Amino acid sequence: MVRVGLAMLQGARYEHAEALRAASQQLGLEIEIVHLKMGKEVNSSIDCLVLPGGESTAMRKASESESLLESVFGWMKAHPRRPVLGTCAGAILLAQPHSNYQPFIRTGISRNAWGRQRDSFEALLEVDLEIPSGAEVDSIVDTRNQFNHQPLPVDVLHTDVERHQFHGVFIRAPRFEQSTIECLPVAHLGDETVGVLDGSKLALTFHPELTGDYRFHRWLLHRATVES
Ligand code: GLN
Repeated sequence: MVRVGLAMLQGARYEHAEALRAASQQLGLEIEIVHLKMGKEVNSSIDCLVLPGGESTAMRKASESESLLESVFGWMKAHPRRPVLGTCAGAILLAQPHSNYQPFIRTGISRNAWGRQRDSFEALLEVDLEIPSGAEVDSIVDTRNQFNHQPLPVDVLHTDVERHQFHGVFIRAPRFEQSTIECLPVAHLGDETVGVLDGSKLALTFHPELTGDYRFHRWLLHRATVES
């Protein structure tokens, strides 16, 4: 049983929960998703963690009253080998945790560097990361919140898993400062690195949880089984 902490600060949280459930079924792995809202809920029983995308400034603010981020950063420092998946704003938090912490990924990152919301885009990426394959499962419809958040109908059929393609969804995305990357590039948009792996921390500037392709979530869960 893998316990997955999902930071419920703001942003695409429910989509991650659905992707995690689907990935766990693909792997035939039992998981428990712990919806983290308060700092005191983050403890050493959590095996791995998801930092969703959204708005990093809003996340930092939302975290203030219950000090969730502080606890999440503390957990990462205390358990450096336990895997973390940070998407978009989550990648920003990994690269720029607040002042008491060293960056968890060794790369600079610039917020909103592709432009404004209307400059959001989708593009085919190349992925260079070892990911366990998963069985076919029906799509998972989790309990939705009142906004009925659900994955975008991104057609993953056009991606070719064999050729390591991935459908990247970029929403007011940050950019890694390319010349500052000192960790492993694992996702590429042409010549540009859009995903990095630093030890156990996987940071993506796009949103895999908004597609029906659960490879990165499988990576996280599998890695958690290896590290526990
Ligand atoms: N623009 C957001 C930020 O700076 C990130 C966008 C996203 O997570 N989709 O926090």
